[in-house]
Amino acid sequence: MWSFYMIPTAMTRIGFIGLGNMGRPMASNLVRKGERVLVMDVNPAPVRALVELGAVEATSTADVAACDVVFTMLPTTTVVADVIGGPTGVLSHVRPGAVIVDMSTIDPLVTDRLASAAAAKGVAFADAPVGRLASHAERGESLFMVGATRETFTRITPLLDKMGTTVHHCGGPGSGMRTKLVNNYLAIVSCAFNAEAIALAQRFGLDLARTLDVIHGTTATNGQLKMAWPSKVLKGDTTPGFTIDLAHKDLTLIVEAANAVKVPVPIAAIARESFSTARAGGQGDKDFSAMLDVLCDRAGISRARLT
Ligand code: NAD
Repeated sequence: MWSFYMIPTAMTRIGFIGLGNMGRPMASNLVRKGERVLVMDVNPAPVRALVELGAVEATSTADVAACDVVFTMLPTTTVVADVIGGPTGVLSHVRPGAVIVDMSTIDPLVTDRLASAAAAKGVAFADAPVGRLASHAERGESLFMVGATRETFTRITPLLDKMGTTVHHCGGPGSGMRTKLVNNYLAIVSCAFNAEAIALAQRFGLDLARTLDVIHGTTATNGQLKMAWPSKVLKGDTTPGFTIDLAHKDLTLIVEAANAVKVPVPIAAIARESFSTARAGGQGDKDFSAMLDVLCDRAGISRARLT
């Protein structure tokens, strides 16, 4: 049995905080591909799963902050601000020369603040939010949108390569997070549109498989409908994935970030309120493709399923 502090100094010591639907498979890929990883989560179940794979459980934030590279994959801006920048957060313990990589999707103004606070301590910072689905994360096929200096980007890319297949350098700190909001605007608004369109097809009594064949052969299709939905809501699987709560959180970030720079995004605001309705009906913990079920239920029609 090895201890985290027995790792040869030549080996990068990795800390990983946040082992949810995305963080657990991503950290697992690091461990499977030979990295020694110190893991932390407020939920003990995924920590146990990682330890079984060969990771080491952290006893404190200070423990994780002693690593060379600290990854965070946490749900919201508030949690990231606290875990990295709070009074007892990573930044209060981390050593100069380390790098913090936040892969969560959060308010880019908070990303900017954390990057500045890190720089003031001689610590490198990268925002590296993640594209694609939890199923891609399981297979080590995630896409990363990195905001970092060229030097930090070069330093973290070999680790990102162990969790994904595509790594983009979007620009300096903060640019990865802003790219992610642009990406998620399209992905999440598409989800709301898809739900309305497929519920309408269902109400019309159309053959679902044939309707999808038509849509996938025109410019109307999109990745959510084509790649994600057939193995999720359309086969009755609404376990997350990416929850309605997190999609609602991202649309809120998008509306606020756009408003801050005076770009009107009325469609994002309306889509956000569709997600608010689903949350009010107690569906917030379902996969975001379950927006289709929410609409079918409200319209009093049977849920659309591919047989
Ligand atoms: P999740 O809710 O499944 O996981 C978050 C994890 O963080 C949980 O295990 C939770 O216990 C842990 N956590 C919460 N507070 C903590 C704290 N103070 N200290 C330590 N651990 C804490 O969320 P997710 O789906 O894994 O998403 C994580 C982030 O990635 C979010 O910002 C989300 O928007 C983004 N994202 C998600 C997906 C997806 O498909 N699920 C895809 C791309 C990006």
